[in-house]
Amino acid sequence: ERVVAPGADDLERAAEAALRPRRLDEFVGQRVVRDQLSLVLDAAVGRGATPDHVLLSGPPGLGKTTLAMIIAAELATSLRVTSGPAIQHAGDLAAVLSSLEEGEVLFIDEIHRLARPAEELLYVAMEDFRVDVVVGKGAGASAIPLSLPPFTVVGATTRAGLLPAPLRDRFGFTGHLDFYSDDELERVLVRSAGLLGVELGADAASEIASRSRGTPRIANRLLRRVRDWAQVRGDGRLDIAAARAALEVYEVDALGLDRLDRAVLRALCTRFGGGPVGLTTLAVTVGEEPETVETVAEPFLVREGLMGRTPRGRVATPAAWAHLGLTPPPLPGQ
Ligand code: ADP
Repeated sequence: ERVVAPGADDLERAAEAALRPRRLDEFVGQRVVRDQLSLVLDAAVGRGATPDHVLLSGPPGLGKTTLAMIIAAELATSLRVTSGPAIQHAGDLAAVLSSLEEGEVLFIDEIHRLARPAEELLYVAMEDFRVDVVVGKGAGASAIPLSLPPFTVVGATTRAGLLPAPLRDRFGFTGHLDFYSDDELERVLVRSAGLLGVELGADAASEIASRSRGTPRIANRLLRRVRDWAQVRGDGRLDIAAARAALEVYEVDALGLDRLDRAVLRALCTRFGGGPVGLTTLAVTVGEEPETVETVAEPFLVREGLMGRTPRGRVATPAAWAHLGLTPPPLPGQ
């Protein structure tokens, strides 16, 4: 797996658990969302009521799961966790909903991937605190309404635009998480180093932050790799030399590009004169599936202003040529 991948598997999530901020005031950055959320939560606590349902949107690794846990902690209640893909049938969701206790928080990750029947059941439950339990089969089946105690849904999605309006409208509060600044990532790293009990130099923190693609998950992962390097090949201290050496081993460059990102850019510049070239041709050239290039490498290259997408294909920007240390061909007529 790529060291700069924004997602995480279960094993990594277990390693991340120790680094998660537990309270809102430990959560670094995202000032606007944090402020708004603290109002929503404090007001609910003050009234002794459950807050509105909360929708969190934004790319992977920016803290949606962490915020869901924090919401439950701030409300002094427990968190129940499920996800869109984990709910195969509406009945699975009905079972989860009917087991909720008063005031609990139900976190639904990847909520945009809920199947339609589950989605419909969910928005009735969110609005009326009711599920219709179907008993029997076929013509003899009937629905028995079951009322639920008040609870709060926290939905997380990477694509708020994919949520159907009726579901989106059931959320009283929506927070959008943005990529973090290098300063904010440095604060995440300093905090994590403290929790891991390692000594992290200020310049090392800044070096790791600037290669972490605006994503706390990647920052924490790179920190663990630098820690490995310092332990095995260094003197245990996470200084700038250890940071640079470790990131070189993992082929993460100054902008946070990895080998695949650079291969794509290099092919675009050296094989196709900077484009435009079609996605499939570009992918074949670097020996990858078009989907891999499109979903894994391209979003960050486009975000960093290194690659453009045009109707005629992918193009390299002047910044891409500069990053690779290459000279772009002269423009026609020059
Ligand atoms: P998401 O659910 O959006 O994919 P997570 O909440 O799982 O992201 O966060 C990934 C990792 O990054 C976690 O280990 C978490 O501790 C860390 N993290 C995310 N946001 C922050 C933050 N604002 N401050 C400190 N650590 C954070």
